[in-house]
Amino acid sequence: MIRVAILGSTGSIGESALKVMERHPDRFEVVALAANRSVRELEDQARRFRPLRVVVADEEAFEACRDNGTHWSGGREALVDAASMPEADVVLNALVGFAGLEPSIAALRAGKRLALANKESLVTGGDLLMEAMEDGEGELIPVDSEHSAILQCLGGEDPDQIQRLVITASGGPFRGWSRERLAAVGPEDALRHPTWDMGAKITIDSATLANKALEVIEAHVLYGIPYDRIDAVVHPQSVVHSFVEFVDGSVMAQLGFPTMELPILYALTYPDRLDDPDLRTFDPVRASPLTFEAVDTDAFPLFRIGVEAGRTGGTAPTVFNAANEVAVDAFLRGKVDFPGMAQVVEEALSRTEVRPVTELEVILEADRAARRSAIDSVARRTPAGN
Ligand code: MG
Repeated sequence: MIRVAILGSTGSIGESALKVMERHPDRFEVVALAANRSVRELEDQARRFRPLRVVVADEEAFEACRDNGTHWSGGREALVDAASMPEADVVLNALVGFAGLEPSIAALRAGKRLALANKESLVTGGDLLMEAMEDGEGELIPVDSEHSAILQCLGGEDPDQIQRLVITASGGPFRGWSRERLAAVGPEDALRHPTWDMGAKITIDSATLANKALEVIEAHVLYGIPYDRIDAVVHPQSVVHSFVEFVDGSVMAQLGFPTMELPILYALTYPDRLDDPDLRTFDPVRASPLTFEAVDTDAFPLFRIGVEAGRTGGTAPTVFNAANEVAVDAFLRGKVDFPGMAQVVEEALSRTEVRPVTELEVILEADRAARRSAIDSVARRTPAGN
């Protein structure tokens, strides 16, 4: 029996994880459920899965439902506690945004397998995560489909054998659009993703390709491959989830119709595979044709800006991530236009000093400074009366 704590259980990844686990009640047990503030959904899930702990990260939201029982707790600390609870073998971190970093560190330090869907953890605190993993003898298995693909392509081979990684990108709803045309798109257009059904933040990040930049950084941290040997390619069908080119020129790819259930299941059972008829539906004829094109960094500058922040290292990826979170939020609220998101992020990067990451406090400070800067940029861009 694999005992799983799910952080971010009411989001898209969390829901998919519960669906997968519900199909295999003999293999999985849910020991904790945590969400930021979706209390109604959390109550439903708690009734279905009867976990030992239920956490509401947002204090205010927790106050409104604290009569649910003593196994309910609230606040950031409760989240970190759930990530290191002794009854869990695996912590699935599917929280959204920077809030996922501390629970990730806690899980690895407690020797858990961290099934990581919260990419911001790796992007902002990569070194700290690796350190915590070593200290606590934890294990980090990516849930992101591209990084799961890389792990599967590796098939136990040493990452030293990798010549190059090619991460695929769907290209989002605006693939092929020019910079000029993009100036007029609104949140409702950007939220319509062609191949993946995901939460709002990551859907916007897919539309701007900021998500792909985060994934390049993620791959760099996870597999120790230098940035000049990690490429991204647009692949609209989202069937090839990534390529690994080995030193002898041989290329492996992992394929499948887009579903997050597969990488979630793989992260829970790795290195084993679980027989799951619900997932066994690949058909190469139906998947045809598979096409690939270069990333348009002129129309989607956030890709270039993000990878550049990764290359700079230190707190630069944290600044990129924080400013991007503010920019996405502002875009969703109609405060900046589509190209404005990249401008807000670029300004934050140019105005925030980059420091080496020596401890968590450095990242927290960089995150705060970048948010202040980005909020300021948004305010200066917002037309009067809006
Ligand atoms: Mg992905």
